[in-house]
Amino acid sequence: MKVKSWFSMGLLVLGLLSVLAIKASEQPVRADDDADTTTKTVAVDESTEPSTEAEPVSDADETKEDADEASEQKVTYGRYNPLNQFERWVIEQKGTERAGTGGYTENKKEGTYICRRCNAKLYRSGDKFESHCGWPSFDDEIKGAVRRQTDADGYRIEILCANCDGHLGHVFHGERMTEKNTRHCVNSVSMKFIPKGKKIPPMIKPSSEKPE
Ligand SMILES: [Zn+2]
Repeated sequence: MKVKSWFSMGLLVLGLLSVLAIKASEQPVRADDDADTTTKTVAVDESTEPSTEAEPVSDADETKEDADEASEQKVTYGRYNPLNQFERWVIEQKGTERAGTGGYTENKKEGTYICRRCNAKLYRSGDKFESHCGWPSFDDEIKGAVRRQTDADGYRIEILCANCDGHLGHVFHGERMTEKNTRHCVNSVSMKFIPKGKKIPPMIKPSSEKPE
């Protein structure tokens, strides 16, 4: 009896150890450079890449930008803007419009990009740049407007409207396209452009969030 139980204990330990060993060997290799195979892959020579250069933003800069940004956005409570089928597919089901087909890719006008579904201010024209990737690209967002989460594919970073959680696109770092080394790749259909000087509609929050 005793021998047998020692034996089964041994087996158990062995089993555990081999599971751990397999787990360890399965650790996925971080593949930074294949972050987005659909867009032009940019510079892979990581030897010179200063990876610590994340996105330092000076405070002074930010307060200045906020002042330009027509103060606080008004808030209204109720239903989000109605969406057509394609908008629903992109915004609610995380679809992606085909490269080069979105209405704002080439837009160079001054103004603000707001969320198509809830009107929350997302991006400024001043942060838009030409990436030639086929989608509107920004190297910064309006502070607090964009939420990030790991994409369902496990490696890209999905960006969502911080207010309504609508899908915007993905954000990429380290491509060295601009000084901020960041590219928000956003579906045109997730946004609405409000030219400078035009009134920005209030941000819509669900009625359930209305304070008493
Ligand atoms: Zn939104």
